[in-house]
Amino acid sequence: MPEVPTTDVELRRLGRILLAQVRIIAAQVTPAAVIPESALPDAPEVAEWTEPLRYRYALRAQIGLDAGVSADEAIRRAVEAFITGGFDILQERRAGTVAVRVVVTGSRAGFRIDVRVWPATGDVVYVGVTPAVALRAPRARPDPFGAAETVEPGHVLCYECDGLGWCPACSGFSWVVDDAGLRQSCPECREQRFCPICRGAGQLQIARLRPPERAFYPELADPLKREDES
Ligand SMILES: [Zn+2]
Ligand SMILES: [Zn+2]
Repeated sequence: MPEVPTTDVELRRLGRILLAQVRIIAAQVTPAAVIPESALPDAPEVAEWTEPLRYRYALRAQIGLDAGVSADEAIRRAVEAFITGGFDILQERRAGTVAVRVVVTGSRAGFRIDVRVWPATGDVVYVGVTPAVALRAPRARPDPFGAAETVEPGHVLCYECDGLGWCPACSGFSWVVDDAGLRQSCPECREQRFCPICRGAGQLQIARLRPPERAFYPELADPLKREDES
């Protein structure tokens, strides 16, 4: 069953829930600091370059350890806060290029929150993402430029795009979806978007057809079938 696209309003609501969740966690780990409203960006980001695109809100807030609280204590509080909130927990130690950091990750219902602690510097960073959701309906095929009835005299519908005018491989979107469901630059039009044969006209001039192109049009082979028969 195709996924029903989420509206901007619903996705924004998920962003608000994320901010509230991070604030609840932070209130237990670093109660002296307040996660500002501005930690939640105005717009969502693309989470997955699939068709349709999937979006999510990503939040980041950098603060420091409360005075008198050790990194170990903050990490212990983070684990505790996630357990209390019913999150699944993952904890790992990562050796960064500058300093070692400890990351406690909590996930619940598609939301994911990191509490990242740098014991050497006392920095604490909260990172959170909402579930990734499709925001718009999958693309529809655009209307063709040309149709059999609208072809100009002395022309035929383009054999490559059937009068669509847009690149037949990507339907004029400049990208295609690969086997993994990810967007790739269109190999057919190289992001020019137009049909490479008719260059967007949707029709071709009969007099300029090369013999192999002419072979696509059986009606051109028999002069008796020409439209201007008299
Ligand atoms: Zn294309
Ligand atoms: Zn064409």
